[in-house]
Amino acid sequence: MDDQAGLAEASNYGEIVPALVLDEPLVRTLRSSPRRAAFFCGAVAALDARLRERGSRLIVRRGESTAILRDIARESGAEGVVWGASSDGASLRQERQMIDELQRSGLRCVVVNDAPAVPATETTAAKSAVGDGYRAFAPYFEQWRQCEPAVYEAPLLLRFSTIELRTERTPVARDFGAVENDSRATPQEARDQLNRFLSESAVQYSIGANVPSEEGTSRLSAHLSFGTISARSVVRATNERCRDVFLLTEERLSLKRFLRALALRDFFLQLRWYHPETDCAPLQERMRNFSFAVDHPALESWMQGRTGFPLVDAGIRQLHAMGWMHPRVRSIAASFLCFDLGVDWKIGRDEWDRHLTEDDEALATGNWQWIAGVGADLAAYPRIYNPERHARRFDPASQYARRWIDELRADLNSGRRRNSDPQLPLFTPRPYAAPVVVHKDAARAFLRRYTAYLKQEVADPASR
Ligand SMILES: Cc1cc2nc3c(=O)[nH]c(=O)nc-3n(C[C@H](O)[C@H](O)[C@H](O)COP(=O)(O)OP(=O)(O)OC[C@H]3O[C@@H](n4cnc5c(N)ncnc54)[C@H](O)[C@@H]3O)c2cc1C
Repeated sequence: MDDQAGLAEASNYGEIVPALVLDEPLVRTLRSSPRRAAFFCGAVAALDARLRERGSRLIVRRGESTAILRDIARESGAEGVVWGASSDGASLRQERQMIDELQRSGLRCVVVNDAPAVPATETTAAKSAVGDGYRAFAPYFEQWRQCEPAVYEAPLLLRFSTIELRTERTPVARDFGAVENDSRATPQEARDQLNRFLSESAVQYSIGANVPSEEGTSRLSAHLSFGTISARSVVRATNERCRDVFLLTEERLSLKRFLRALALRDFFLQLRWYHPETDCAPLQERMRNFSFAVDHPALESWMQGRTGFPLVDAGIRQLHAMGWMHPRVRSIAASFLCFDLGVDWKIGRDEWDRHLTEDDEALATGNWQWIAGVGADLAAYPRIYNPERHARRFDPASQYARRWIDELRADLNSGRRRNSDPQLPLFTPRPYAAPVVVHKDAARAFLRRYTAYLKQEVADPASR
């Protein structure tokens, strides 16, 4: 309940009835990823427990959101509804319709932008063009750095309604095909994780964020996604750490880079705020008619982590095993799909969505479009990652690849390689799986198609 913009806003109007509506789109999302469902149910259980400590409880109902909110308002005498804005395209559209319907029933609707540290409207307040956000990250970041995240930590102001309302049981992971609630999905755990990160790995984040074999990033994405910690409090705690006068220059740079990662999150959220259509269409209008393939003979190998490119495969297997993939490897594996295989970024995004714990369609889309060269990265040509070169650079001793690719571990442990150079010769004539493409040829072929498309687009944009 710390630093929740929705609760703080609701407390301005009077007594609060905390409610959770499990509507069909939410149930569908939870069913699509058991790990996500386990985290969500853990977070709901933690919230309900904290409400009970304060003499309240979560009112849970299943069904259609608008009808249920109207019912709860009627039963409790509430005059309005406050909720945190969604950032995924489908929910945004649903929410706008819900506001109309609730307002027609005489209920006041207040939607708070709780997910980012700095809401879109604040960073764009300085812009002259009304109703449009930043499309490029660099100027956005300049502006973002000057904004202080708001503070909503005023739990004493909260007053909960004591009216007895019907409630259904809180959801549990088993309802959605998962085994049990994720016990780590609590505000306390999130806070501990942040503190551990800030006092241990954060000072080396510049390196950790690039070296997949190290546990060098914060691993806060699921907590941020489900609100067990607010982005505002992460930014505040990091700023506080930056004020330590004894920090070395390198440590300060690492913390600044971490703040930049949090700003990138806000950047993608503000892109979605101003461009809700980008869940399906590229942000760059000129790229809207570029056709990526919807299939490739090696698509299944990519999905299974069997492309024969160790960094790509290790990343995918880490995702399958943990519901999370190291950020650096995400870029390389995504680039491989879009450029080496030429496959549509939406296919990659949706495939990973089935495995990720975090539930952040706007962040997934923003990143996938950025990598595919159709989003907010305004470079003239897409950056095609060379998976072999990146493996040599960021995983030179193949520690990461060996951790996640069983075949490589087994190979190393066998007599054949036990006494050899610890730098596993990954590209020997007997790789664990034959590479599904020749990277250079595939990248060149993609660039030829991309360049031809752009030439045509510049010469005659109406022809497409
Ligand atoms: C192709 C691709 C797909 C991605 N899909 C998702 C996704 O579905 N959901 C998601 O939350 N993140 C996504 N990311 C962003 C990022 O990789 C993850 O947020 C990160 O792996 C989380 O690990 P961490 O918490 O240890 O990150 P840290 O490096 O510790 O960063 C701290 C926080 O900053 C934010 N952040 C960091 N990098 C980014 C970024 N590039 N974009 C947006 N926010 C960022 C995250 O909230 C993260 O938790 C994607 C990145 C790429 C390249």
